[in-house]
Amino acid sequence: MITPAQETSLPETTAPALAIQAGLLDSVETPPAPIPELRITCDDCAAACCKLEVVCLTETGVPRHFTTRDAWGAITMDRLDDGWCAALDRDTLLCRIYDRRPLLCREFEMGGPDCLAEREAAWHNS
Ligand code: SF4
Ligand code: SF4
Repeated sequence: MITPAQETSLPETTAPALAIQAGLLDSVETPPAPIPELRITCDDCAAACCKLEVVCLTETGVPRHFTTRDAWGAITMDRLDDGWCAALDRDTLLCRIYDRRPLLCREFEMGGPDCLAEREAAWHNS
């Protein structure tokens, strides 16, 4: 019989073994491997968020030829026929104006609700 005082004084790994010896346990089951966390990364995403409308709310130095004016007069990132932002490099799927990208692009949270929604929508449309 192992008293609680004895058990707490033993290293964690020896307590189950002693419990088996004392007939308190038949065996020690190996705990299942933890489920790996889903890791969201832009590396496995086809720039899904770069198909969203991006209004240029502040001056960040976006070259004018990548922008257009929407029906309400706001300056937005231009999107080409394939749906992606004009500033996206189609070969690398990287932003060509990363240091000058609009505020909305800077604040878009990777792994956030909008990111997850766009990734899922892109997956369904592929
Ligand atoms: S949708 Fe999310 S994962 Fe995909 S490129 Fe945008 S921020 Fe990165
Ligand atoms: S400016 Fe850059 S980050 Fe923003 S939508 Fe266009 S390509 Fe994507």
